[in-house]
Amino acid sequence: MNNAVYNFPVPENEPVLNYFKNSTERMDLQKELENQSSNPVDVPLIIGGKEIRTGDTEKITMPHNHSHELGQYHKAGEKEVKMAVEAAIKAGKEWGNLTWTIRASILLKAAELIGAKYRQVMNASTMLGQSKNIYQSEIDAVCETIDFLKYNVSFAGKIYEQQPKSAFNQLNRMEFRALEGFVFAVSPFNFTSIASNLNMAPVMMGNTTIWKPASSSILSNYYLMKIFMEAGVPEGVINFVPGKGSIIGNNVMSSSDLAGLHFTGSNNTFNNLWAQVSNNMPNYKSYPRLVGETGGKNFIFVHSSASVHEVAVNALKGAFEYQGQKCSAASRMYVPKSLWGEIKEILVDLTNDIRVGDVTDSNNFMNAVIDNNAFNTITGYIDYAKNSPDAKIITGGEYDNSQGYFIRPTIIETVDHHFKTMEEEIFGPVLTVFVYEDNELEKALDLCDSTSPYGLTGSVFAQDRIAASLICEKLRYAAGNFYINDKPTGAIVGLQPFGGSRGSGTNDKAGGEFNLVRWVSPRTIKETFVPATDYKYPYMNE
Ligand code: NAD
Repeated sequence: MNNAVYNFPVPENEPVLNYFKNSTERMDLQKELENQSSNPVDVPLIIGGKEIRTGDTEKITMPHNHSHELGQYHKAGEKEVKMAVEAAIKAGKEWGNLTWTIRASILLKAAELIGAKYRQVMNASTMLGQSKNIYQSEIDAVCETIDFLKYNVSFAGKIYEQQPKSAFNQLNRMEFRALEGFVFAVSPFNFTSIASNLNMAPVMMGNTTIWKPASSSILSNYYLMKIFMEAGVPEGVINFVPGKGSIIGNNVMSSSDLAGLHFTGSNNTFNNLWAQVSNNMPNYKSYPRLVGETGGKNFIFVHSSASVHEVAVNALKGAFEYQGQKCSAASRMYVPKSLWGEIKEILVDLTNDIRVGDVTDSNNFMNAVIDNNAFNTITGYIDYAKNSPDAKIITGGEYDNSQGYFIRPTIIETVDHHFKTMEEEIFGPVLTVFVYEDNELEKALDLCDSTSPYGLTGSVFAQDRIAASLICEKLRYAAGNFYINDKPTGAIVGLQPFGGSRGSGTNDKAGGEFNLVRWVSPRTIKETFVPATDYKYPYMNE
């Protein structure tokens, strides 16, 4: 037994590679894109370390070329979900009792495998399956995934080292037990790194998971699962269970051993799962921990002292990178009348310059939205704006799903501060602008604070630093991640811990101690050296 006290220092963030033409990384990526495009995969369920093929399959296609099949995946039924629950409980006994540094070394090995051997496997599968361009894939599937893994090891050490004080005649200790039961990890399509973290954060703290990946990100998620196994995650510690949300959800949520839900996705789904927990409450052995990061209606608030060019460039990046399908994407902007003319001109010019298309053409800044449902929802909002007297589309508004689910970046200007696209999450490349009177700053800030039910991200642009601070203060609860003179997207693990409150989730800040602490159930142990031998209080013997 090695009794050393380990300490994992705070890591450096994974550098983003350049992918210049003819660079090694670009050539390796090219090869892997060709490989994955021409060799369809048959993705099984992985339960208790065993591959299971149910025969009930669904196609995996490219959003930017939907007739091109990347493979198929097998879907779980009730029987497989029950198997997964049993496998997770069985594996939990040993995993939770392991020396935590063994678990840490497995996470660090996974990070190493993703950073080198499988870097381009992760990139190609995320690019082709989720329609991300090279840069968007590299910062997600590689860099953020690695950062989550490495930072969580370091943060776990900080949690484990916290011990209570010991006083006279006693020794006090805190034991950080894993939760009793399993964690249900339910991941969204839009970030491969989030799918990794929803599993690996609880796993780091000694828990086992049942993983329901999103149906539209199966390819990259399957490769992640294989990497975790190669890194040493034992059988049954993570159980990969693709399939229909409701079938998997209903069967997992009703298990008496559900110890936690680690969710990222839409409000509807999280609310639904939360309600299921409430309904099943009497059946659970413990109160399940509920951690959920959900939607956003993220804003850019422009002060009259802002630099117009900076606003335009950052609004474009914040709203349109990854087709606006980031939970943090800017989707409403408040601009003072005095600056709108100039900002509008630059923003429209830049937006018209954006190329939308296939991920393999590196000149395309934007690619396709994830699937036909998303395409219909987003274009429904665009059509609504086209037909409304309260709004006009100042650029974009075109769309075409004949080959891929392509939507041009769209900017709507509205005179109604409660216009539908100012309030509801669209999750696509649509930015709505409301122009306020310069002498009505306070009123505009109130609107920004109260217009949507969310509180995820937001930013202020102002060169007047005092004004920026006042706005930051005024919008205190409007965003869990607030930016001064930057776009509201692009949070980096360890630098800007991520999450929002109000309708945006439980704000447990993924990639940090706040989140990891939810996956332990501490036990306090007090040992008395010389136990009491007399029941009376000292003064009674006087
Ligand atoms: P979604 O809610 O449609 O799906 C999320 C996951 O839930 C998927 O795996 C889906 O299959 C599963 N699911 C659906 N119904 C279920 C059920 N009844 N039981 C169990 N699982 C079920 O979300 P999405 O479209 O994949 O992702 C987009 C949403 O995620 C947006 O609202 C976005 O804002 C949000 N998001 C938030 C954050 C954040 O950190 N706040 C990050 C990324 C995405």
